[in-house]
Amino acid sequence: MKFRTTIGLEIHVQLKTKSKMFCRCDNESDKAKPNTNVCPRCLGMPGTLPVANRQAIEWTIKTGLALNCKINEKSKFDRKHYFYPDLPKGYQISQYDEPLCRGGKVDLRSSIFGPRSVRINRVHLEEDAGKLIHKDGSSYVDLNRAGTPLMEIVTEPDINTPFEAKKFLQELQLIVRYLGVSEASMEKGHLRCDANIDVKDDKGRMSEIVEQKNINSFRFIERALLYEEKRLQEKYLDWPKGKTKVTRGYDSKKDSTYEQREKEEASDYRYFPEPDVPEIEVKSEKLAPSKPEGLKVKSNGIDIEKIKAEIGELPEDIRKKLESFGVAEDIREKIASAPDHARYISDAKKVSQSLASWITNEVTAEIAAQKIRYEDYKNNVPITHLSDLLALVESGKISKNSAKGIFKEMVKSGKRAVEIIKESGLEQMEEDSGLEEIICEIFKKNPKEHQRLVDGDEKLIGFFMGEVMKETGGRANPGAIRSIILDIKQKKKG
Ligand SMILES: [Zn+2]
Repeated sequence: MKFRTTIGLEIHVQLKTKSKMFCRCDNESDKAKPNTNVCPRCLGMPGTLPVANRQAIEWTIKTGLALNCKINEKSKFDRKHYFYPDLPKGYQISQYDEPLCRGGKVDLRSSIFGPRSVRINRVHLEEDAGKLIHKDGSSYVDLNRAGTPLMEIVTEPDINTPFEAKKFLQELQLIVRYLGVSEASMEKGHLRCDANIDVKDDKGRMSEIVEQKNINSFRFIERALLYEEKRLQEKYLDWPKGKTKVTRGYDSKKDSTYEQREKEEASDYRYFPEPDVPEIEVKSEKLAPSKPEGLKVKSNGIDIEKIKAEIGELPEDIRKKLESFGVAEDIREKIASAPDHARYISDAKKVSQSLASWITNEVTAEIAAQKIRYEDYKNNVPITHLSDLLALVESGKISKNSAKGIFKEMVKSGKRAVEIIKESGLEQMEEDSGLEEIICEIFKKNPKEHQRLVDGDEKLIGFFMGEVMKETGGRANPGAIRSIILDIKQKKKG
């Protein structure tokens, strides 16, 4: 029996705005005691009115644009009703039939499944609910999270393997991090994923659709889906006649899934338009160049062009750019998957393999060692300064080893490499600057080793190079030492 798996994802991304979605409470509750970061609005008290967070709306549009979506000119919020202890209002403000963004796509590349495009059905904005905490046989409600802005991204069922699902989720995490709209940490619950999976056989029969809710790690999403795929294939004789949906949870300890409840249909939520929040108008208005300065069009609408201009390079742009410079794939991926590195190279005209690998190794290590922020590092060592340093290594002016020391100093002081070299005399010795005398001196001090070298034991070259390096404090050019050693040896023989 041949099976085909279909997977669609619904991803919730917590936006890192300063305040919550419809009130002024701080949006950051990580360190707050339960129920201290709340106000009458996010507690859902009668008589309070929600005011939409403009930043959250703009960031959702920004994400939609980055995912190649069409932005709806008009959209609105709706009330989604359900009863649960962590939802004091009895409804959640969400978007139903007029979301902010529709119809996009994300391109994925992998050596395992090749190029693939996953279509996006919609991106909408809503508020999060509170949290239930179950402890010592009791249940507690913490409403600090209630009202946090949550962006929901829904894909079309274009994913065919659990591995692709994981890859998609990782790419999406990267994109929202590049955009700077969310920390998107799965461990902290900023990025949560529901997955819908079904399996069809070659006779066109279809299993039930299984929804797995709130999967909170990349590893678990792949494992939960692998488990479910296998389970559905094995029970194919019992597949239902009609289309049915069930919800199953994933138990990471047992690495298996268990049945939860029948999935609710949209009609169960009794959606209706939120009467207290006005419609969102999105306009694309560019000022005509002939308009006199200061005469701006006044509008409460959201300006798409302005948001577009803020998007900048995305992970796939970085990969392509590095590929065009001939940077190896593993290093391309390392840079693309670190938004800080990606932003760092965005000003560079050219990124060589050596510059790219210096960034992934030395820069990362030095930032960690000096315990500084990437921003501080970037201020002290703009990418052009780092390119200059590596050019000095390539031209043989300094050795790679002393470049590491100089780099440390650059990060600390913000000075350029040439200044540091001048100050500390680290410049490599020229071939004619007494290197030959030093080498002769070392030969005299080590007569036995010298004789073996003359007799043809090439291993001794390394020994003498080490001695010369010690003597010169690492300033001698290794190529020059080697050629002088071989030269003198040749002369001796002759
Ligand atoms: Zn509040």
